[in-house]
Amino acid sequence: MTFSDLGLSAELLRAIDAQGYTIPTPIQRQAIPAVLQGGDLLASAQTGTGKTAGFTLPMLQRLSGGKRPAKRGVRALVLTPTRELAAQVGESVRDYGRHLPLTSHVIFGGVGQQPQVDAIRPGLDILVATPGRLLDLHQQGHVDLSGIEILVLDEADRMLDMGFIHDIKKVLKLVPPQRQNLLFSATFSNEIQALANKLLDAPTLIEVARRNTTAETVDQAVYRVDREKKRDLLAHLISAHQWYQVLVFTRTKHGANRLAEHLGKQDIPAMAIHGNKSQSARTRALSAFKSGDLQVLVATDIAARGLDIDELPHVVNFELPNVAEDYVHRIGRTGRAGNDGQAVSLVCVDEHGLLKNIERLIKRDLEKHIEPGFEPDPNAKPEPIENGRGGGGRGRNGGGRGGKPQQAQGGRGSGDGQRPSRRRRRGGQGRQQA
Ligand code: AMP
Repeated sequence: MTFSDLGLSAELLRAIDAQGYTIPTPIQRQAIPAVLQGGDLLASAQTGTGKTAGFTLPMLQRLSGGKRPAKRGVRALVLTPTRELAAQVGESVRDYGRHLPLTSHVIFGGVGQQPQVDAIRPGLDILVATPGRLLDLHQQGHVDLSGIEILVLDEADRMLDMGFIHDIKKVLKLVPPQRQNLLFSATFSNEIQALANKLLDAPTLIEVARRNTTAETVDQAVYRVDREKKRDLLAHLISAHQWYQVLVFTRTKHGANRLAEHLGKQDIPAMAIHGNKSQSARTRALSAFKSGDLQVLVATDIAARGLDIDELPHVVNFELPNVAEDYVHRIGRTGRAGNDGQAVSLVCVDEHGLLKNIERLIKRDLEKHIEPGFEPDPNAKPEPIENGRGGGGRGRNGGGRGGKPQQAQGGRGSGDGQRPSRRRRRGGQGRQQA
């Protein structure tokens, strides 16, 4: 099957060709015809499956025949949890829509709002936004959502995890009842089901990878190691195996900074990316990493969400995530679109419970290794995990969910971990430490 079999227009086929795609991915094969028909869609798909093109291409086609947007009006709205994902979806919209006379813009918090206001003023065919900044601009009268024809919620599970449910409900009150809705989520919790029931009308269901499975193309391994030796083991593995382009996950922003600094001292170029970094610092780090100038990018879960790096060869879990589903998201950064990838987890005695949860979720045992020279102490005692967040097994309810938005510098936060912490109230295991 080719893209032209899916009913896409010549303008879109030209743009797809320029991207170098020849064969539609499974989600594209199913989503494109369904969206072209105008119905609602509920898709279970992780990043790396080609889901962005799966909704962007038919959305562009449906919009290309219609009327112009009204002043300050928007015809299609794509909501994403993070700035990075918003930027990437915006890029896809531009790339795929380059031969169509449609206008688009991306908005998120943490940057000045005036250029965004100026871009929306004449009206837009497509607006890609994080929820906080969108509502901010709406409240100030800069954007009119009453003419929305298509609403996309991308990575809806992550939006809920980050506490955006109230913002999403507010947005739903601002859009007209007659519209097409597309909901994408990597996992299906009860909350996602509830949102889908409220939002969608007789949706087409698409499930490409089995729920909570990890890609077959990713080689996954665990190195057992003592807590204090993780940094040196990581430096050793990177050097010994000559890994380039390594995305490393840490649990905290502070941990990400410390690790990047440590690797730097070992002559391994590394930078940290997380919610405390300015947008320009994050963009710089990401582009250096993508271009291959930067060997290691150390990231927290929320900051890494939505990073689109083609053919990323190595992902390292420097610490296991507290929430098992995050493991699936993390290693989804490698082995994308059919390429081989390697995911390595460094696991100390504190994390055995977390590892069990992950293995239960992905329904397989991960291969365990011990690197000579880094043998773990068999008598080591587990300690509580940093920030008092230990144990795992709390499901996906760990953090910002339900958090009331808080006025943040430069706006209301942008959906990348700048949400207010609910940790104290929720028993000390917040996920906002991104
Ligand atoms: P996504 O899941 O939307 O984040 O896409 C994952 C990656 O796959 C992106 O780098 C896309 O550029 C790439 N991609 C999307 N569709 C195709 C395709 N049909 N063939 C090859 N690569 C694709």
